[in-house]
Amino acid sequence: MTTPVPSLAIVVPCYNEEEILPKTLGVLQALLHDLISKSKISAASKIYFIDDGSKDATWSLLKAAAVEHRDVVGIKLSRNKGHQNALYAGLCTSTEDIIVSIDADLQDDPQNIEYMVDEYLKGNDVVYGVRSERATDTFFKRFTAEGYYHLMRKMGVDLVFNHADFRLMSRRALNALLEYEESNLFLRGIVREVGFPSSVVEYQRQAREAGESKYPLRKMLSFAWNGITAFSAIPLRAITVIGLISSLISFGIIAWVLVTRLFTDNAIPGWASILLPLLFIGSVQLLCLGVIGEYMSKLYSESKRRPKYHISELISHNNKP
Ligand code: UDP
Ligand code: MG
Repeated sequence: MTTPVPSLAIVVPCYNEEEILPKTLGVLQALLHDLISKSKISAASKIYFIDDGSKDATWSLLKAAAVEHRDVVGIKLSRNKGHQNALYAGLCTSTEDIIVSIDADLQDDPQNIEYMVDEYLKGNDVVYGVRSERATDTFFKRFTAEGYYHLMRKMGVDLVFNHADFRLMSRRALNALLEYEESNLFLRGIVREVGFPSSVVEYQRQAREAGESKYPLRKMLSFAWNGITAFSAIPLRAITVIGLISSLISFGIIAWVLVTRLFTDNAIPGWASILLPLLFIGSVQLLCLGVIGEYMSKLYSESKRRPKYHISELISHNNKP
């Protein structure tokens, strides 16, 4: 008995990618045809492009491609929802047996998808694409990104080092992932939570071929902070420690003040002994309130259980009568 050939979905979030899109489409389609001709995947395989509320010609390009090609599905979100939500929209819409997510900018060489499929055929449910080096990233991006992975590890968040969102998932791994209902999506963390047999494909990250990075520093910082607070309670625990240490110090100061007042003659109320603890405790309290507030805001946004995206248009040959 031969096992049926699996169908593959490639999911590509796109935000203002008009410059690179025609090339990405060509490369991914060629890859799909190649894999189909090698009988690694079935002819029912598809590429899902999600337009994340782009302001340029991205959607008109995608629409035309989806109308013309049977293997292209175009999904338009109602507005810009961010990379993770756009990716999630694509994952939810796909119906295939294996699902690969990849960025539109070809920084993660799509040829690796073949190796990922090979790993899947060997029995792995999740295959992580891992950057073996980041020579093409700027020093700043490399430094901050790698430092971040180290920091996350220290905080007890289980991440695959230098793995972003280039990965393969089997249908059962994806279905498990879709059961996680949190609205603060940090997919690369959730996939680790899901478990299942996994392996790794290493590749060299290329420079972006066209267009600019859609992750300016502001978005990068907010993504990094979301990742930490969504997966680690260590900042909360750190508050307790800081609070403990500061109260120990305050007790020391209080004892000193008492001794000076009761057993010596130099009990002139100095401004330093008042001002210092005041400033110190004040600042520690503010810091703590800030961190607690962060988690409160997380609870707040989770408790609303808002939908992560809305599809305003979907173009696929399957929908046509
Ligand atoms: N992206 C998106 N929505 C956004 C920002 C980015 O869908 O709000 C997509 C973008 O089109 C690309 C991927 O997410 O396919 C990764 O973005 P980018 O390459 O700019 O990030 P970088 O590689 O610089 O971290
Ligand atoms: Mg990129």
